[in-house]
Amino acid sequence: MKKVLLAILLTPALLTAQGRAKNVVLFLADAGGISTITAASLHATGTPRGLSIQQMPHIALSDTTTASQLVTDSAAGMTAIVTGQRTHNGVIAQGPDAVRGKSDGTPLKTILEYAEQRGLATGLVSNDSLTGATPASLYAHVNDRGQSAAIFQQAFAPRFGDGVDVMIGPGRAAITKALATAGVDIGTVSATARRPIHAALSEVPADARRAIVLLDSSAFDLEEAVLAAHRILSRNKKGYFLMVEGDTHTDNVRQGLDRMVALDKVVARMSTTVGRDTLVLFAADHSFDIQIRGGLLGKPLLEGLEAEEAKAAEEKRRNIRIPAVRMDNAHTGEPVMVAATGPGADRVRGYMQNTDLFRVMLSAFGWKEN
Ligand SMILES: [Zn+2]
Repeated sequence: MKKVLLAILLTPALLTAQGRAKNVVLFLADAGGISTITAASLHATGTPRGLSIQQMPHIALSDTTTASQLVTDSAAGMTAIVTGQRTHNGVIAQGPDAVRGKSDGTPLKTILEYAEQRGLATGLVSNDSLTGATPASLYAHVNDRGQSAAIFQQAFAPRFGDGVDVMIGPGRAAITKALATAGVDIGTVSATARRPIHAALSEVPADARRAIVLLDSSAFDLEEAVLAAHRILSRNKKGYFLMVEGDTHTDNVRQGLDRMVALDKVVARMSTTVGRDTLVLFAADHSFDIQIRGGLLGKPLLEGLEAEEAKAAEEKRRNIRIPAVRMDNAHTGEPVMVAATGPGADRVRGYMQNTDLFRVMLSAFGWKEN
């Protein structure tokens, strides 16, 4: 009797971790490695494991090296995660036969394109830029991440389905300028594709099934944007794929840690908002050279930061030394944390490669590589 009861109690949890996902939400902390997560937790909660991502039931490590470099950038890092193939730094969703800025490589099919091909709704929200390397790796294929005019236009010329349904993020001024330099008018892009490019979330019609919101600034409410994207994407009965990028580079230490805390809050909110049919995955594309080098529990982690930043600015250096923290302003090559909950989350375990995350998502949807 007891055994039967135990089996009944355990079965739903097992099925949840092993079953199929109708939807996948990928949270990408850009430059959010383990040291950033730990520092953000200490900074916000005074404890080393106070963030919700640290409480997720399935946790693994992920190697981040590229096809050639030991330390990845966001282009090669995200390409690996969303296509299952490694490439070189600077290259967006093309194979290692690409030469950055010189010649194209084989286009790599992204998890977003798999979802589009199957009629699911797809979306991305970023507080970096809509044509930044992280979101671009889902919908564009170029040999250099700097080609933002080409990247933006590829969002309107999808290889599969009808293209990204929801895009919310900043970069309006830079994208408009890049398009103008290429002789393209953003209004024409919008009109030709018959897709309005809104300047604010409030402009999106209440019953929209697709929406592009190109903001001026990265200082917007990420949680509000993600909840709006989720509302829109959920209208597709077949399911959805959503990627949320939080820029957690700690070259600006306080801003980077605050953004990690904000992203963590969005992960927590979404984990309770999405249904049990949704795989929620948290990953980082690479780590960053911020380290905890001292300090005491109960003391503010960033004590002395403002004075040190003023001194660093005066001495024209980009590194930071305060009693508890050292920041050396570069990406680093150590593995990052991956965390997951929901159907397919049990595949997140052990010491993985960044390319394995693509297969975690694909298998959760129940799809095969093709
Ligand atoms: Zn990055």
